This record gives sequence, structure tokens and C-alpha cells, in this order.
Amino acid sequence: MSFASLGLSAEILRAVSERGYTEPTPIQAQAIPVVLAGRDLMGGAQTGTGKTAGFTLPILQLLTASTKPATGKAPIRALVLIPTRELAAQVEESVREYGKYLSLKSMTMIGGVNINPQIKQLHGRVDILVATPGRLLDHLQQKTVDLSHVEILVLDEADRMLDMGFIRDIKKVLAVLPKKRQNLLFSATFSDEIKLLADGLLTNPALVEVARRNQTNELIEQRVYPVDRERKRALLTHLIKEHNWFQVLVFTRTKHGANNLAEFLNKDGISAMAIHGNKSQAARTRALAEFKTGKLQVLCATDIAARGIDISELPHVVNYELPNVAEDYVHRIGRTGRAGSNGEASSLVCIDEKKLLNDIERLTKRDIPVVQVPGFEPDPRIKAEPILNGSNRGGGGQRQGQGRSQPRSGGGQARSGGAPRTGTGGKPAGGAGRGAAPVLHRSGGRGK
Ligand code: AMP
Repeated sequence: MSFASLGLSAEILRAVSERGYTEPTPIQAQAIPVVLAGRDLMGGAQTGTGKTAGFTLPILQLLTASTKPATGKAPIRALVLIPTRELAAQVEESVREYGKYLSLKSMTMIGGVNINPQIKQLHGRVDILVATPGRLLDHLQQKTVDLSHVEILVLDEADRMLDMGFIRDIKKVLAVLPKKRQNLLFSATFSDEIKLLADGLLTNPALVEVARRNQTNELIEQRVYPVDRERKRALLTHLIKEHNWFQVLVFTRTKHGANNLAEFLNKDGISAMAIHGNKSQAARTRALAEFKTGKLQVLCATDIAARGIDISELPHVVNYELPNVAEDYVHRIGRTGRAGSNGEASSLVCIDEKKLLNDIERLTKRDIPVVQVPGFEPDPRIKAEPILNGSNRGGGGQRQGQGRSQPRSGGGQARSGGAPRTGTGGKPAGGAGRGAAPVLHRSGGRGK
């Protein structure tokens, strides 16, 4: 299968080939012909599958095929709604890149930045608008944007949009769009809520789905580091320094946690910044840019902020705290090991998080190898605390050693040369005692 066989124009093929893509990803191979045929689409795909080009390339093609005047004011003909600002900026960048040999114009419309330059840009030509819902609504209310000529609507990461509470905003936007239009909806999951949204939005849609990645990527080396909550910071510093990790994306549950951790790491001589919704857009953009170039060693992020960050071949993802929802683990570690390169996903797991770890292992159908770093062994006297709304403070609860009903079997997915499986609570399994002959993974020359 080649891009040329999908019926894309020479200008688009040239841009695609300059980007270095030789063949379409599965979602692209399936979605591009459907979109070119003018059909509605329900796409089951998450970030990392190549879905952006899957909708961008045929949209560019459709809009050029029925082109409007090359200069002067032309109506907005395609609207791409994206849940997060970073992702919106990245998608619009892709539109520009794939469309660089075409005369179409695109625009990013996101919150957190001054609205006036956007208003000015809207006075000029915009064919493809990539927007986050909140700012788009501001423009609609101020009547600074006209969506009455939109021919194609894309709802990207629809599940995240709903999670983030954008449903009312989306409905308000839908209300001002022309009734007759082509609709593309992408979502990583198909909850009842998404199905309801799709039912109201799509007409006789083609269903295109690529394998969900809840089976985690084989190229990602996963590890669990048992440690007490209070020692996580010290262990993280130790791991980063010991292995000379660069471009480390660290996930925390809360914005506050991300800030604190970044501050701590900086004090410890590791350059780190936090990226989350409370930061100004300028600060987020700067953090991301510095991280991409490698100037910034660590980025501390919450799930929502990290969603959509597309940094290819990101070598290290660290779960400073496990996510409450097992699927988020798959999303998180999907940031690494992309496009055929190896990546490492390390999880610092304290006693309170054993249940979360069990959920993750059940979902991904694999045991994650456990590596006990000497000097960071969990204190057997510490009891688990119940997990309440992302905070682990308060009350007693689960006893240590509980939570993993099945002893771990040896071998399995372990790639770390036989790292001893100790369980996270200190119960030896498979004959290896806790802390016995600890194996620390070396990052194999990746330490750039
Ligand atoms: P997406 O799922 O759209 O966020 O894309 C994920 C990553 O895959 C991005 O880094 C793209 O640049 C890359 N990508 C998209 N299409 C292809 C392709 N056909 N071949 C190789 N890489 C691709």
C-alpha cells in the first residue's frame, strides 16, 4: 500500500514524502479513501496511530479539488475541534506542513493567548480552522468568526472532549454549522456517551478502527520500582542521574504535584518544568519547545496536559504516581517507543498503588517486571492508605502484601535480563527474595 494509491494529489504526496513517510499507517489506509469519498467517518484511533494525517490529507485534497479564490477573504471550510491547546497547535502545524504546496490557509485558535491577533488573522483568509472549543465559543459570542460555510467538521479525541466537559460547548458550535456537511469523529474509546454523540452527528458513517493499544507496545520496556511514597522523589532523582536519562516525561496525578516535583528536581540539579492547565500558554509552549530540543531534561505533566504531546522517540516516561484509570497508563506510556524506536516506561509504585497496578496488569494482560533499587526498599511497617480523589492521604486500609492475588510467574515479558520479581509489597515470588541480586536496567547507550 502506498500513499499514491490512495488517490492523493501530487502536491500532497510530495509533502508527505518530504516528511519521511513511505507508507500509510493502518488508520490512514482506511480513513483516507472514506474521507475522499465524502462520507462521514467514525474513527477508533488514539494519538500515535497517525490519525492526524488520516484526516488532514484527504481534507486538504477535498478543499483543493473544489478550490475557492486563491487570495482575499474566503470562508472557513473545514473546522477541526481539538480538546487541548498543545494538540491543536500540533495538528495545525501538520496541516500547514502537509499543505505546504497548496494555496490553502490554516489557523490555530486556542485559549490562553491574546484574542486580538486571532481576530486579525480571521480578517484574512482561513480555509482550515483548528480550534479548542472554549476559545472558539468566545469568538462565536463576539461574532469574530463565521462558521456558516463549514463543509467538513472533525471532532478529534472526542472521548477526551467529553471527559474535559466540552460537550455543551461542542453542541453550541454544532448549532451554528451548516446542516449539510461531512463529519469525522475520532475517539480512542467508544463509551455510550460517545455513541450518543456519534448518533446525533454522523450520517451513515464508515466505521474505521485500528487495534486499540491497550495491549501495550512491545517496544516499550516497562518496569515497576517499588518504593515508599516519601522516597519517590529521591528515587526519581537517583534513576535520572544514575542512567543519565534525558527527555523524561514524568506523570503526576495533580497540577500541584507536578509543580512541586519540578521544583524539587531543579533544586537537585535536574532541569525540570511543569506543564498543566494552570500555566499560561506561553509557559507551556516554551516548556515543550525546550523539552523537545533536549535543553530541558524533565517535563512534569498531568494526564490532560500531556495528552497529545507528540514528541517522537521520547525515550523515557515515568509514572511518578500511577493513574486512577488503567487506560490512562496505556496512553501515558504510549508517549514512548513510537515509530519503531525503543522506549522505557518506569513506574514508581508505593503500597497504596498496588490495586492500581493490578488493574493495569489486568488490562494490558502482562506482568510488569519489578526492579528493586537497593536503598529504596519499601518499609514493611508502612500500611496502605485508601485512594481518595487522587489524594492518598487519610485513614488506614489495605494491608501490605495484599492486592496481588496471583504470585508472579518467572520469565514472561521480562526483558531486563531476569530482574528479580519481588512483588510490590515485599513478598518474594518465584524464589527471589526482596532486594536479592537487584538488577538495574541500563539504557543501552540511549543516554544522549
Ligand atoms: P498522530 O497519531 O497523528 O498523532 O501521529 C503519530 C505520529 O506518527 C506522528 O509523529 C506522525 O508524524 C507519525 N506518522 C503519521 N503518519 C505516519 C506514516 N505514514 N509513517 C510514519 N510516521 C507517521
